[in-house]
Amino acid sequence: MWSKHGVLYILTNERYAGNELFRKSYRTDAIPFRKVDNRGEKSQIYAEATHEAIVPFQTFQLVQKLLQKRKEQFGKQQQGAFYPLSGKITCGLCGGTYYRRLTSQGTSWVCENHLASRCPAKGMGEKEILSTIQRFLHRLEEHRDSILSPYLAQLETLWQKERSLRPSVLRLQQSIAALLSQSHTLAQLRAQECVDSDFFVSQNNQLQKELENLRQQLKREQGQTNLVEKLQSTRFLLNTLGAPLPDEFSPTLFQSVITGITAQPEGMVFHLVNGLSFAEPIGGFHHG
Ligand SMILES: [Zn+2]
Repeated sequence: MWSKHGVLYILTNERYAGNELFRKSYRTDAIPFRKVDNRGEKSQIYAEATHEAIVPFQTFQLVQKLLQKRKEQFGKQQQGAFYPLSGKITCGLCGGTYYRRLTSQGTSWVCENHLASRCPAKGMGEKEILSTIQRFLHRLEEHRDSILSPYLAQLETLWQKERSLRPSVLRLQQSIAALLSQSHTLAQLRAQECVDSDFFVSQNNQLQKELENLRQQLKREQGQTNLVEKLQSTRFLLNTLGAPLPDEFSPTLFQSVITGITAQPEGMVFHLVNGLSFAEPIGGFHHG
């Protein structure tokens, strides 16, 4: 198996994208002769398509762009700890955000207003939450043809009716579609373990921020939620849930399918990327 650094190297080295930067290093002219990195002192020759691309050029470009952004965003600073559920769970009683808490009974997630006695919501065990998510995803997979397929057909019909869009709306929708496609590529790269988890999360967050920005613009232009986005996300869900689901909780799958969770006393409501929401009782059904 490839190490994550090895894979990241492959994704960022232009040789693997079919291009080669010659004269990466050169020998000095004077004594002592040394081999030094060429930082532009000697002209470099950039030969395109000298190899057959191992990593598709588009993917390579995407990773380059994302890495550059990451550099700008984080500099040399190390990222703090991240949990897949961070910022994802909203309290159904008070609207507060759940945070992670270590107790003698184990790890749990608690409403931020609970400790100050401003909210009666009980905490939930992390294991229980993760298994509820797993169960929900399997149920969604099982019923995808009876839930997601008709929804997709409905969206496509609506989309046909919306053909007479204003150009500015169309442009915004195209930009959103492009960003979503990047986000899906990123999720696939993560699923294939081509990028590490920190990288995925930071890039995904960045993409989500840009998407949010465009969505706001679109809302101002259009006055309603984006149809193209729902359409594309539903296709993505049908695709993703068409492949066998992992047995264990997968942060990547969670991130790319579920945008948020509302915690209710009787269960959890899952909000999907395509705008649909489903309730799932916590702890599952107990028999006998
Ligand atoms: Zn609360």
